[in-house]
Amino acid sequence: MRRYRIAAIAGDGIGQEVIPAGLDVLRAIADRQGFALDVEEFPWGSDYYRANGKMMPEDGLETLKPFDSIFFGAVGDAHLPDDITLWGLRLKICQGFDQYANIRPTRVLPGLTSPLRAVEPGDIDWVIVRENSEGEYAGHGGRAHRGHPEEVATETAIFTRAGVTRIMRTAFRIAQSRPRKLLTVVTKSNAQKHGMVFWDEIAAEVAREFPDVTWEKELVDAMAARMVRKPGSIDTVVATNLHADILSDLAGAVAGSLGVAPTANLEPDRRFPSMFEPIHGSAFDIAGKGVANPVATFWTAAMMLEHLGEPAAAASLMVAVEQVCASGIMTADVGGTANTAEVTAAVVAAIRGANA
Ligand code: NAD
Ligand code: MN
Repeated sequence: MRRYRIAAIAGDGIGQEVIPAGLDVLRAIADRQGFALDVEEFPWGSDYYRANGKMMPEDGLETLKPFDSIFFGAVGDAHLPDDITLWGLRLKICQGFDQYANIRPTRVLPGLTSPLRAVEPGDIDWVIVRENSEGEYAGHGGRAHRGHPEEVATETAIFTRAGVTRIMRTAFRIAQSRPRKLLTVVTKSNAQKHGMVFWDEIAAEVAREFPDVTWEKELVDAMAARMVRKPGSIDTVVATNLHADILSDLAGAVAGSLGVAPTANLEPDRRFPSMFEPIHGSAFDIAGKGVANPVATFWTAAMMLEHLGEPAAAASLMVAVEQVCASGIMTADVGGTANTAEVTAAVVAAIRGANA
């Protein structure tokens, strides 16, 4: 029997609610499709920090390395600074395993309503590919003359030929795998004349390896407007760490709720495990109430199955999720009255009932 080793890190807040829900759904689909998941759960996060003075053990990355993938909830605690929680766990894993491609699909699921007036389910089908290892978030810069009138602060974006080439190849490959084969390369090369012109040049170079993909350039500000005004004209998008961070929150909003948005932190070369997580955080305002929307985590689980090489399982998981959303069994963030357990039970039942 095919077996996959999954490291589950629920983390903080609603991570503790949506990851167990995601594991229930994963076990149901594995059962149905005839493969096995060996899941090991790690209690890392803010409570672990309070007990041990760190978010995860010193050798945490070594522990995770042999797994086929990492299924992650959220980190963030009302009483701890984000630079301890985020940098101590999530970013440590992303950077430690060189998960350089952050993949964010956007669709309006059946039963959900986009805040864009004219958008119906089916009108939007985007994949945003975010550079996840360098760029504006490389952490380079500094401050001089603190507190003085001449004070200066710099935030330097770092782009390397290797870094831009590999994210461009990943994006072209994804575009090539989709029906429309259209890639929009987003930059701000009219104003940022070094790094962003470099992006445009490398896009043109890599494009020659993918003659069947249509590609175009768009400036990030124009792209934001286009996402609202002509959402149907967009397919696959590649952008820098900062630009894609902003565009993908816009994409999440356009799809109806943060509670349905999934993401994958991929290490496409498969030297290390990739990490799959809902986009949302620990959601202090609803944590502990059992009402978190688990759909983002289910979609995340489908992306993980796809990466593990189980595309049929991934597709049938999404069919079950869409059936349940369309039937109106939804949480309050998307206008329903169901709780996390009820949505989860409905998806598990839909999986068990499929082709029965
Ligand atoms: P958040 O995503 O936790 O919550 C934003 C809003 O969306 C809240 O009103 C919340 O209730 C709602 N929401 C989010 N997920 C939902 C779901 N599944 N179902 C229903 N409603 C949902 O963002 P925030 O409030 O800015 O951050 C809270 C903490 O989470 C902070 O410490 C932040 O740093 C952290 N955070 C972590 C990650 C991550 O682990 N990847 C991502 C974002 C924020
Ligand atoms: Mn963001």
